[in-house]
Amino acid sequence: MANKGLLLVLSGPSGVGKGTVKSAIVKTKAFPFEYSVSMTTRHPRPGEIDGKDYYFVSPQRFQQAIENHELLEYNEYVGHYYGTPLGPLKKMLADGHDVLLEIDVNGAKQVRKQFQDGVFIFLTPPDLHELKHRIEHRGTDDEAVILERMKQAKKEILMMADYDYAVVNDTVANAVEHIKDIVSAEHVSVKRVIDEYRKMVKED
Ligand code: 5GP
Repeated sequence: MANKGLLLVLSGPSGVGKGTVKSAIVKTKAFPFEYSVSMTTRHPRPGEIDGKDYYFVSPQRFQQAIENHELLEYNEYVGHYYGTPLGPLKKMLADGHDVLLEIDVNGAKQVRKQFQDGVFIFLTPPDLHELKHRIEHRGTDDEAVILERMKQAKKEILMMADYDYAVVNDTVANAVEHIKDIVSAEHVSVKRVIDEYRKMVKED
């Protein structure tokens, strides 16, 4: 699918703080973009607004959306469904807006299949390197704990392989700043601008 705007996919392991970073980006207006509001069957939390944070729908309505191919991707997470409405996303991109998606790693995988030129940002926990270092250099801790952590860390590192950027969420402000830099760089990447130049040269 060819896009005019950038599709920015913010993802990462559960508990890493994707929602917090997304909210900070929205709040600080770090760069201009439209946010893709997901559909979910979970109930709203205090302060969440229908149509702004999520479209809160019944399981029946969600099922209908799946059957009608209204969703770009969807996933079940702790007993609830979450999905990305395709129609609004396509329209926002076609209108030239950058669009931000904040979704889990399974959803991001599905999005990559349809939007290869999206910008996939993997948010990592701040202690990943420290954890790795500790695992490698300290052989004396409780072995079961070391093994479990190593397994988890490896799983997380491997998930990163399908992404374009890894952003450490050490502080939310730092993560937002890095994401802002990524967006600026992507806008001037040759693969995104070369067609314009080819056209310019041809028409001259
Ligand atoms: P929460 O219920 O805390 O808002 O979100 C739970 C998880 O669902 C988070 O990991 C969030 O990134 C993910 N999520 C939110 N919207 C979507 C979506 O549209 N698709 C998928 N696959 N995951 C989503």
